[in-house]
Amino acid sequence: MKSEQLFNESKKFLPGGVDSPVRAYKPYPFFAEKAKGSKIIDVDGKTYIDYCLAYGPMILGHANPNIMEEVILQLKNGSAYGVPTEKEIELAKTVIKKVPCADMVRFVNSGTEATMSAIRLARAATNKDKIVKFEGSYHGAHDYVLVKSGSGAVGLPDSPGVPEETTKNTILVPFNNENILLDLIKDHGNSIAAIIVEPIMGNIGFIPPKKDYLKFLRKITSENNIILIFDEVITGFRIAEGGAQEYFNVTPDLVTFGKILGGGFPIGALAGKKELMEMLAPSGNVYQAGTFNGNPISVTAGLATLKQLNHNFYSEMNLKGEKLRKGINDILDENNLNYQAVGLSSMFQIYFTEKDVWNYEDAKTAQIDKFTHYFHSLLNNGIFIPPSQFECCFLSIMHNDNDIQNTLEIIDKEMKKY
Ligand SMILES: *Cc1c(COP(=O)(O)O)cnc(C)c1O
Repeated sequence: MKSEQLFNESKKFLPGGVDSPVRAYKPYPFFAEKAKGSKIIDVDGKTYIDYCLAYGPMILGHANPNIMEEVILQLKNGSAYGVPTEKEIELAKTVIKKVPCADMVRFVNSGTEATMSAIRLARAATNKDKIVKFEGSYHGAHDYVLVKSGSGAVGLPDSPGVPEETTKNTILVPFNNENILLDLIKDHGNSIAAIIVEPIMGNIGFIPPKKDYLKFLRKITSENNIILIFDEVITGFRIAEGGAQEYFNVTPDLVTFGKILGGGFPIGALAGKKELMEMLAPSGNVYQAGTFNGNPISVTAGLATLKQLNHNFYSEMNLKGEKLRKGINDILDENNLNYQAVGLSSMFQIYFTEKDVWNYEDAKTAQIDKFTHYFHSLLNNGIFIPPSQFECCFLSIMHNDNDIQNTLEIIDKEMKKY
């Protein structure tokens, strides 16, 4: 197998053979040759229906013709200038039109940079230091937010190299629990700058907010001079035109984007209320900068993507998602399995647990060995999902009935073995 050879070679030159840890699964990951529509093809010529979609960005499927055309035109005119372009205004206007909380936008290069900058901005705006995040939420790979495990009030770093002095300002709470957060804010509200939340948790599988939980977050943050940051790096442009804040009708102070916004190219953004955003340099003194911020290729691809997303698009995505989830749940029922296919719109995952999943602790009851078996069976049968129980799977607009039918047949065969 060429993938196996490449992985052995790769391990000599790239730590662990990959450039991002989740990509390294056992015994070796397949190496991509190319991708088109709903399919990704490996270096050994095997085709997979792709439900990983680069961990979310490719909502239009791979190699979308409009994006390609626009990007090629832009490439001929240069790929980085270090001076502003008109297209950045156009993309900002498009984001502002779609997203309720967005009056102004700063484009950066990744979701990681977006959340890092949003947190700095929130700290500056409130003149407070502590932030609250939810157990199991992922906001990128920087120090402030690299704390997720354990249930104590103050978090320990998830990684060596992250100073405890940094993460002692990061407070962890369980998702979907009002009382713990109320108590925390009663005691520490005057030192908390921000609550950062994935409005739907998508980095621990798929966990939706309980009814009115996001409204509760909005209320307590408003009452306590705490900035509410929605990390919509996944949900932005994924579950509705205006993201989770439109879907759940809760408007945060700041929002972060990435993934879909770049149309398959690296991008991130933070957006929010004008008075907050204008605190960013150079209009204000909160420092944020980047050589590739607002990169013309990424901005072009982002514009070409957002232009294709409208109300009908999301209706179609919802139907695809419902069809797949219902199909999987029917299969689970027929096989007397109490596991659950969860999700919303074009997001889905199977939790291999009989418990309803409302937070990190619930998610951790999933049987990882079963998931791993399922992952490998699907992979052998030409279906690629992210290799972890705690990632979310995605559909693109290019996934057709045939793809969904094939997928359900494979899952049906697999579930007969449990
Ligand atoms: C992927 C992700 C990030 C990090 O984005 P990168 O572009 O990988 O840095 C941040 N937050 C959430 C919710 C994500 O899913």
